[in-house]
Amino acid sequence: HGYTVSAPVREDSHAPQGSVIDPLHRITITRQGQRVRVSGGAEIGHGNGSHHAPTLQTLYLALSGWFPGGALTSSPQVQVWRGARPTLTDGAPAIGASGVSGLWINTGHGACGWAQACGSARALADLIAQRSPAIDLQPFAPQRF
Ligand SMILES: Cc1cc2nc3c(=O)[nH]c(=O)nc-3n(C[C@H](O)[C@H](O)[C@H](O)COP(=O)(O)OP(=O)(O)OC[C@H]3O[C@@H](n4cnc5c(N)ncnc54)[C@H](O)[C@@H]3O)c2cc1C
Repeated sequence: HGYTVSAPVREDSHAPQGSVIDPLHRITITRQGQRVRVSGGAEIGHGNGSHHAPTLQTLYLALSGWFPGGALTSSPQVQVWRGARPTLTDGAPAIGASGVSGLWINTGHGACGWAQACGSARALADLIAQRSPAIDLQPFAPQRF
């Protein structure tokens, strides 16, 4: 899992005007109108469903380190999102028939689920409709393991 923290801008001149990528900590800080969003972190395993404090702390530290005073991180309007990056051992998603009649799989996109969503959905829709997908889906077959 990874996290985003979205906080209201505190002082415009101290907040990012665009996006900043911190490759060392694998964190992105983005201006979103009157909010600043910091995203990243890697919490391995499925945890207990509650927020992983050390991962969140890394995000808060990156935000205050790059943009001191730029965001109101103690505001009640702060939103925290904990999202999954479901990943298989070979890094490729699983797209196709599950082996159970009527149940199709489209998962395991890891850190690229949004980027791959439309293409994966298109390819799976073609399979379900018994049309030939535009790409070879063999490398993504759920039965490859
Ligand atoms: C911090 C962060 C940044 C990211 N940035 C990017 C990016 O820049 N570009 C990109 O392409 N991808 C990015 N991703 C990855 C992307 O978010 C995921 O790959 C994508 O959301 C996976 O989509 P999904 O529909 O497979 O699963 P999810 O979005 O996780 O949806 C699964 C849904 O199932 C629900 N659910 C779970 N269990 C049950 C149950 N038992 N019963 C009913 N419902 C259940 C969950 O609540 C959830 O709503 C990022 C992920 C994170 C965490």
